[in-house]
Amino acid sequence: MSATPPVLLIHGGEGDVTDALREHEAAFREALLGALAAGRRVLEKEGDAIDAAQAAVAEMESCELFNAGRGSALCSDGSVQMSAALMRGSDRAAGAVAGLTRTEHPILAARLVLDSDQVLMVGEWADRRAAELGIAQRDNLHFVTEHQLARLRGRAAPEPMRGTVGAVCLDADGVLAAATSTGGRSGQPPGRVGDSPLIGAGTWADEHVAVSCTGVGEAFIRTGAAHQIAMLRQSGVALAEATERALADVSVFSGRGGLIAVDPSGATSSPLLSEVMPGGVWRAGSESVVWITGRPGRPQ
Ligand code: ASP
Repeated sequence: MSATPPVLLIHGGEGDVTDALREHEAAFREALLGALAAGRRVLEKEGDAIDAAQAAVAEMESCELFNAGRGSALCSDGSVQMSAALMRGSDRAAGAVAGLTRTEHPILAARLVLDSDQVLMVGEWADRRAAELGIAQRDNLHFVTEHQLARLRGRAAPEPMRGTVGAVCLDADGVLAAATSTGGRSGQPPGRVGDSPLIGAGTWADEHVAVSCTGVGEAFIRTGAAHQIAMLRQSGVALAEATERALADVSVFSGRGGLIAVDPSGATSSPLLSEVMPGGVWRAGSESVVWITGRPGRPQ
């Protein structure tokens, strides 16, 4: 057993403080609490970190306020292409999917890949495989919301949130896991893949740290952001400094965004280059705490 109680930390994507964010604040809070509750239920039934991270992200994929699952950002042709990844630190098991157009819960498809011999599956083949293994499929239009359509056409008020969703978890056995799911960036060309499903860029977990990122994916890919944090941790750099240094590197490449991370001691870090990154944390023995414009320790 680990010396520290389980911890689940989530994010609902980076963004700006906008009127739309304020308008939807109560709904965001409720959705974040729902995601923490889903992960907590898993951990309280002695589920492991990967199951808890997956459950929290699946819950956020179900809420159209977030850029994942239904409500995803749209490609320039109005279609939705979704990506997701999961990684378990204890054995570096990893599963990821990119360019899904029909799978209702991309994070469940990523889990199927994690449980297979592959690490990354793309497009139609990944959807088909998810369908064969029983994951619900929907017409692409199911994922398209009025808000995202207006946003693509430049008619939406500034979006409440641009980002991806993610979760990192430390379980009672000391195992770390990370999960990330996204519709990418609004107006992206079809076929573009960001950092979220790329192991080591937007998602990573090993025995030192679990990381999930959100923001301009290209900058996170070019800096290998999530893996960079793991390497810094391995060389003895404290969690907060490691995450700040990786994000400083991202900023050099005009990247905006943020990330969440947890280490085996239960320490968490969530540095940010953007205005906000709504999120929440649950620690065994405590109540869940969520924030919209605040940060862990300074929830608002
Ligand atoms: N990082 C994601 C991507 O580049 C999107 C986001 O987090 O806003 O696809």
